[in-house]
Amino acid sequence: MVVKLDVSGVGMTSQRTRNRLTERLREQGIVNETVLQVMGSTPRHLFVDEALSHRAYEDTALPIGHGQTISQPYIVARMTELLLDGSHPTSVLELGTGSGYQTAILAQLVDQVFTVERISGLLDQAVSRFRKLALHQIRYKYDDGHLGWPEKGLFDAIIVTASPRSIPEALLSQLNIGGRLIIPVGSADDQALTVVHNRPEGLVTEQVEQVRFVPFLGGKS
Ligand code: SAH
Repeated sequence: MVVKLDVSGVGMTSQRTRNRLTERLREQGIVNETVLQVMGSTPRHLFVDEALSHRAYEDTALPIGHGQTISQPYIVARMTELLLDGSHPTSVLELGTGSGYQTAILAQLVDQVFTVERISGLLDQAVSRFRKLALHQIRYKYDDGHLGWPEKGLFDAIIVTASPRSIPEALLSQLNIGGRLIIPVGSADDQALTVVHNRPEGLVTEQVEQVRFVPFLGGKS
């Protein structure tokens, strides 16, 4: 089931511009048609500063203030594809709300998204975007995400959109059996997008590709 986005009154860019982005994602190897459909119909320009909105449909990361960036569409699509893994996750935890773009993509594909952000200014802006798009299936929290959100778990998937040096242990214990953690792990210039599967026989770790995310930091700001 894909949730239909309410885009009335948000000033959508042309279908052609959005199709170009979808085509580029396809060329880069994104194969999940539902993910492509949702990426092609989500107004990314709402998630960046107005001064940068003409670049919103380029396949590039862009600054969102507070030293943070909105992720590159290819990475959002790739992580979403890995998270779905051909299944239908019911409950997903995201750490690092940022602009809220990845959250909005997920909210159209899974039943409930829980998201945590440590910078209040960013979270406030993201929440107003969720309201504007009538994405009511998102629950959010202003906090340091290192401990996950144990009260709301277990989760079918956990996605981390900032990079810790190593996998925070607490997150693994909040995964359902059959669930997975999608996380970029490493240093500033050497990070591997990593998937940890919580299989009945134990944890299985897979490294997918090199990526570059802002650091996963401690505390609130
Ligand atoms: N998916 C977001 C990515 C934003 S960048 C987007 O596409 O816009 C990563 C975000 O993770 C930043 O907003 C940063 O403040 C946040 N972050 C970093 N460490 C965190 C932590 N420990 N807990 C919660 N959020 C964190």
